[in-house]
Amino acid sequence: MRIWDIESKHLCRKHLLAEHRELHGIWNILTKHKCRCGYSRHPETLRWVGKQKALYKRHCDLIKEFRFRGYKHHTPLNKRFAVGEEVQKVFINTIKEQKSILKNKRCDCLLFTVSNWRCTGRRFTA
Ligand SMILES: [Zn+2]
Ligand SMILES: [Zn+2]
Repeated sequence: MRIWDIESKHLCRKHLLAEHRELHGIWNILTKHKCRCGYSRHPETLRWVGKQKALYKRHCDLIKEFRFRGYKHHTPLNKRFAVGEEVQKVFINTIKEQKSILKNKRCDCLLFTVSNWRCTGRRFTA
């Protein structure tokens, strides 16, 4: 369960889709007070409490990347709940640590940038 603090363009398909799914889970906990099997006490959830606006912005970033890669998206967030702080300043791992976590996963994270996407075509298109 993790929302990355790395730009979404650097995430591989698997990690981009997983983060998006988890973002919705956290959003539901924060806005609907739905308890999903203890995730409401998860450190990743807790760091977004009172920062729905920042989470909303992250969702916008993810969706921009979805569109760019041609992935489908059918789950808009209700902007009415995008309240609180708009900048996330609490990190569970530093950006540097997050990058090395992703590198160790041996997926395609961090390999591509937007300009590479344009050159190499839609390798990860859904
Ligand atoms: Zn969504
Ligand atoms: Zn990845």
